Amino acid sequence: MGNFRPISLSPHLPIFYNGVNFMSETIWRPFSTDFQWKDVDVLEYKNDEKSPFKDVTRQVLFEHPKLACQWRYFEVAAGGYSTLERHEHVHAVMILRGRGRCLVGEQVYDIDTHDLITVPPMTWHQFRATSDEPLGFLCLVNVERDRPILPNEEELAEMKKAGDVAKFLTE
Ligand code: MN
Repeated sequence: MGNFRPISLSPHLPIFYNGVNFMSETIWRPFSTDFQWKDVDVLEYKNDEKSPFKDVTRQVLFEHPKLACQWRYFEVAAGGYSTLERHEHVHAVMILRGRGRCLVGEQVYDIDTHDLITVPPMTWHQFRATSDEPLGFLCLVNVERDRPILPNEEELAEMKKAGDVAKFLTE
């Protein structure tokens, strides 16, 4: 989530958001090299042994007091993976760069640039990049959303028992 909040949600007052009056000003953030946009912070997750993700960055592309959604760009470095998690809120994803695989529920999908994929409510999911290039994807979410839940040991053991999901998680 961004660090800023609207000062007012009243439709009769100007709304200042991150120093910009959104009722009268637009924001143009040109694409720059390497899947970054002007004035969009690249937020790095901390890498450590216990983290359930590896080599992931996040950029918030759009958030607006008049929009109920937030649009983010995630990038998983070559060989990296996102957190294995689930939650009530839904993801709408477009792969913007690279290839990889993703686990959604009981299925593992080979995902390629420009593919679209959704993650339904309370469905385990994880994105993995191939070993040779980053996997970048756009991810749309509701602004108001629940916190992700991680699998407990039993749930993880169950997922690792057999089939494509087990193979995906233990590779
Ligand atoms: Mn998620």
